[in-house]
Parts: sequence; C-alpha cells; structure tokens
Amino acid sequence: MADDLNHPTVYHTLLFNSRNHLLLTKEESASAQWDTPFSGDLSGGQDPEAISEEKLKEFTGKAISAKIIFEVNASGISSSAHHVLFALDEELDQSPPDIPQATFFTLECLYALVKESPEMLAPALREIIPHLRQYAIRIPYLNQKETNYIYRFRTEKHRNEGIYHLDSSAKALYQSSLCQAIKLVKRQKERSPDIPATLNFGAVSYILPSHFGFCLGVRNAIERAYETLSLNPDKRVFMLSELIHNPYVNEDLLARGLRYLQSDRGIPLQDSETGKLLWDTLTEKDIVIIPAFGATDEDKTRLIEKGLPLNRYDATCMLVEKVWKAARRYGREGYTVIIHGKTEHEETKATFSNSAAYAPSLIIRDKKEAEILGTIIHSNDPNEKKQLFEELGTVCTPDFNPSKDLEKLAIVNQTTLLRNETIDIIDYLERVFAQKYGADQVDEHINHQSRGDTLCYATQVNQDALKTALNEDIDAAIVVGGKNSSNTFQLFRLCQQKFNERAFYIQSEQNILSKDEIEHYIFPYNRADPREGRTEIRPFLPQSSGLRILITGGASCPDGIIQQIITRLNTLFPSNKLRPIEHIIAEIYASAPINA
Ligand code: SF4
Repeated sequence: MADDLNHPTVYHTLLFNSRNHLLLTKEESASAQWDTPFSGDLSGGQDPEAISEEKLKEFTGKAISAKIIFEVNASGISSSAHHVLFALDEELDQSPPDIPQATFFTLECLYALVKESPEMLAPALREIIPHLRQYAIRIPYLNQKETNYIYRFRTEKHRNEGIYHLDSSAKALYQSSLCQAIKLVKRQKERSPDIPATLNFGAVSYILPSHFGFCLGVRNAIERAYETLSLNPDKRVFMLSELIHNPYVNEDLLARGLRYLQSDRGIPLQDSETGKLLWDTLTEKDIVIIPAFGATDEDKTRLIEKGLPLNRYDATCMLVEKVWKAARRYGREGYTVIIHGKTEHEETKATFSNSAAYAPSLIIRDKKEAEILGTIIHSNDPNEKKQLFEELGTVCTPDFNPSKDLEKLAIVNQTTLLRNETIDIIDYLERVFAQKYGADQVDEHINHQSRGDTLCYATQVNQDALKTALNEDIDAAIVVGGKNSSNTFQLFRLCQQKFNERAFYIQSEQNILSKDEIEHYIFPYNRADPREGRTEIRPFLPQSSGLRILITGGASCPDGIIQQIITRLNTLFPSNKLRPIEHIIAEIYASAPINA
C-alpha cells in the first residue's frame, strides 16, 4: 500500500473491452513502451475517478465509468501512491477506438511480458500488472449494479422456442404433447402448486404433479448453449462443465459440437488426440459457456486472464446469483456465511468462492454437521473448539477461526435442497445461541432474514406440487433426473418417505426393464452407504390391475423423456386395454378451468 494514502499523486486507468483485454498504447519510436493512455498526475484533492472519466471521454468519445480498484506504492518507480482504476467498455470488442498505436492485450500476455520483456512496458505498468490477478474477477462486472443480474430469466416473448424444435433429435428430447397439455392446463401459476393431472390410459393411470421438469434457469441455459453453437460454427465452443444435470441434454449438445472443459467434479479434461489439458489449449478465440450453477471465481479468473468473453456466454441462473448476492451482503454486514450444501456440488463451490471473498465462510452438508457446529459454539475452550472443528473437516475459508468466526452467522444454501432441512438447521442454531447467551440475545448472533431466503422457488414449487400429488392413491412413484441432480434427489426423497422401496430414481425409459424389474439409481447422499452412486435392479410393479403410477421429473428433466417413459410403461400393458393418447390429451384440455 501507499506510504501516504491521503495524498496519492498518480492515477492509472485500465480500460478493458468485452473480452477482458486491456487497451495499451505506445509512441511510434523504437524504444517506446506500452502504457495505458489514461493516466496522469493528480493535484491535491482531485478525484481520480472523475479525472479518469474525463480522460476516457476525451479519448473514446463515450461516457465510461471508472472505479478505483486498488492502490500501489510503486516503489521501484517513485515513492508516490498510485491509484489503479478499472474501466470497462462492453461495446468494445477487438477493434480499438481511434487512438494511435492502440492494441489490446490479454492479462496472460501481460504477465508474460512482465516476466520476459519488462522493458517493453512503462515502469508503472510493470509494477501494477502483477497485482491484477487478484482483482481480475471484477473486470466483467464493473458496470453491473448490485440489483443487476448476469442473465435474467427470459420472458415468454424472448424465449427461443425454435431450439426445442430444431430437428428430430431436439424434438424427441424436448417435445411432449402430454406434458405440454398438463403444463398449460394444470400450471395456472408459476410459483404455486395445483392439483395433479391424472392420465387414465385404462389398464394403467399416471399421476403427474402440476409442476415438474424444466425451470426457467435451465431453459435459459439451454437456449444460450444452442444459440451460441449455431452463431459460432467456426469456433471451438466449450462448456465449463455439464451445462445442466441431465445427461441427454448434455449429450445432445456434445453431438452438436460442444465440448466439456472439465468434469462436473471440476477435474480438467484432456484433448483426446494430443493428451493436453483442454484448459491449456484455450485461446482468446474460443468460447466457454458458464453453466446454470455458475462457476468459481478461480475458474472465471482463468478465463478472464486468457482474454475470453465471460458475460456474453454466462448462463448462471439468476437464483444462484441471488444466493451469491445474499452471501456478499451478509459478509459486508459482518456475518460468517454458513452454506448449507454439498461440498462437491458445482453450485455450492461457486457460492463458496463468492462468499469467501467477502466473509469467513464454511459449508455444512446437513443437520449432523450443524450439530457439530452447535457443540463448537457451546464450548468455551478454544482448544476443544479447534479440535472439534478439525474433526468436522469441512470446506472453509483459510484461517477460519472457530473461536471467533462462529459468533455471528447467516445461512445461505444450495438452491435445490429441501426447504425444511435448511430451516431446521437455522432453528437448531438459534436454539444453540439461545441456550448459550439467552433468548433475547439470539438476534445478535444469527441473521433471521436468512431463513430459507435463498432457496430456489422452482425447486420449491416442484416439491410442493409433488407433495400434493402424493396425497393421491398411488402404487409406485418414478422420479426422473440426472445422476448428479440434487433437486431431483430431493423429489425422490419425498417419494421414498411415502413409498419406500416402491419409489424409483431413474434417468430414462431404458431403466424400465420389464413389468417386474427396474434399474434404480442410488443417489450419492449417505457417504456411509457403500451402494451410493450405483444402479441396482429392483422389483417394479405390483401384480394388480388398474395400477396408478406417479411420475415426476427434476428441474433439468426434458419433457420428451417423461413422454418416452410413459410410452415405455404403456408397452408393459396389453395394447387393447390402453386408451389412445389423443383421448387422454383431449381430456386434459377439457379439464381446463373456464378462464384458463
Ligand atoms: S433449479 Fe432453480 S436455481 Fe437451479 S437453474 Fe433452476 S431456477 Fe435456477
């Protein structure tokens, strides 16, 4: 930091374009060095932001805002304090404004110049560049206010319905006349459950909740991925990892040329031909799509440094971003942020990475881990606290201090968990503080606003609609979703609580082997269960007539798969005992309320 922070004398404004490249200029002479054209001395009391903005306008002809990001005492060049400001012109792509000798540089290229040819850079820039790494994550979001979102839900008018009808493969995956009818008739309100649909095929009936399948965040992400592919046929288009947690959607995108950069566990993938890590082959010409669950600051920073555009291809769901905003807000207010989620889930990792920049943060998986936290909070012995915390062994910010950092808590969660479980954890922690400090002191130690505030409404309404459907007379329940889909698993748990071994978690119609057998997937939830993550064959339908089967799908389950499951189930019954699907669809429409 500067020796004399009150009297900084120099400012350097770094102007980035939409691809996170820095604009530099140099004189025409052979010995000239690259420098930012937006820098100068400040005389006493001058506001560096205002001066920068004036200079930016003078050079570019546009109003561009500039923010002080850090200060550096560039001791190698002078003893003055240097303000370093960032500015972002989102309309600037690769063509520099009309400035002599202007060139865009990626941060990666600048790091290399500092190391290998520092004489090519102005002295102050040489001092500043090594500091940029820790602030680079702010570049794409410089013009984003706290009330803005990276990618808002598209309105119906702006939806790209065409991608769901692209060709026969897209139609098979995304189209279902049955599901369309149910959603049109039964889903009267986006956020409130309604009575389920009963599809009476004669020999068998299917009960479908009013809300199931795709949420708006997933639809946003899918549309952005298909659009990116079709608009960039000459580019390499990657997904950071799986776009959403559905293997069929991801496979369809891969078949259309998309590639994964890393696995859903964050493991970097290799180029199958050269064996090189794909991350290492990325160039500024490539595109990387950020999935619906977001990405960690570390991964985003790497993309920024390589000069890839970020916002244009960021499909982070706004409800995930809402959790990040809440975590930041709690951090600024002095709370430690407890994230209720799974350490291995991409969304939780991204939330942790966001939160960790603002507050001491840690992840807890469930009530059991919350109870360990409770014991630590209760203890008055720093050594015991430390030991219990080590035994908990969860992900936390570096230097997390259990003696100091568990006194004022706010809870956020992975968006797709069961609401009751998060609220149960908050209630429990409130009781812990009440016991330790007295009921009137609880408000000092826990943020009540955080009660389920960050759960996703789409997940919640799918759960609520399922609960309503579970009141029906049902013989078996099938829950459809990817093997890593947390929200699907929560739906399965609700079914399992009611039907136990007659609840099945499957990925597609291929898991239905016969009337007697089905492949059931054991979701990795209970780390002590050696069967977790495996598929096992279970007895399927009971031998009775007039079976009633409940079917629902997680937020990343396409309608086409639900319809294929119904078609497959129908093959298990004599065709002469089944009513035609057209009759069923007509019945659904006929059941619409008059004003629907
Ligand atoms: S389940 Fe919720 S948080 Fe996840 S993508 Fe859908 S709307 Fe967003």
